[in-house]
Amino acid sequence: MRLILLGPPGAGKGTQAANIVDKYNIPHISTGDIFRKNIKEGTDLGKKAKEYIDGGQLVPDSLTIALVEDRLKQDDAQDGFLLDGFPRNLDQAEALDQILENMACKLTSVINIAVDPSILVERAVGRRICKNCGATYHVVFNPSKVEGVCDKCSGELYQRSDDNEETVSNRINVYSNETAPLIDYYTEQGVIINVDGQKDIDLVFEDIASALGR
Ligand code: ADP
Ligand code: AMP
Repeated sequence: MRLILLGPPGAGKGTQAANIVDKYNIPHISTGDIFRKNIKEGTDLGKKAKEYIDGGQLVPDSLTIALVEDRLKQDDAQDGFLLDGFPRNLDQAEALDQILENMACKLTSVINIAVDPSILVERAVGRRICKNCGATYHVVFNPSKVEGVCDKCSGELYQRSDDNEETVSNRINVYSNETAPLIDYYTEQGVIINVDGQKDIDLVFEDIASALGR
């Protein structure tokens, strides 16, 4: 399966990605995760991406598209993948079409997680992530059993530096202006699956799995 997860910041893409890659046995390719890893490791890419991420702006396409192309060429992505956070604008979507055409393959589905904008800030600001395994929690909606400690691996939970109110608001604006038009783009391609992201986490996943039909 070749899948894309689409939705505003805080919609639940990362949360559902963990379930989807587990069930369908495909690699999870999150451009945000790749940028954060590069920032942590102090690479050139990380240094260039940091200022955009801190401001809630998109990292330039010249850095982002090449990175995804390289990742999709790796062995583990040849039988399927889940893209999370890419594409985020029309140029990225068109570049992805070209990359897939060159690889002689097609998208299976684009899962669009819809959430009312009024709850996105609360979702993102309350997000906590495990430093060790990357599991995602929410201080109110999906808390860990012990505060600050991952249920799965006992790793320490942290808050992303761009999960503050100001940056999240910028990211929501960027989503509305640049990413939301992709809903029409993929609807026209006939591959969109719309799910209600305001249900409980398990129910959202049930809807996704039943729409994917396997
Ligand atoms: P995204 O990857 O789309 O930015 P996340 O998956 O990281 O979003 O989810 C954002 C926050 O909202 C996290 O703290 C997560 O635990 C929480 N969350 C995700 N899905 C739901 C849901 N269906 N109901 C309530 N909270 C959710
Ligand atoms: P995410 O982890 O998806 O919430 O992304 C965090 C940040 O990484 C975004 O606010 C952007 O600054 C950057 N980013 C992630 N994916 C992309 C992308 N496809 N294009 C440009 N910037 C991106």
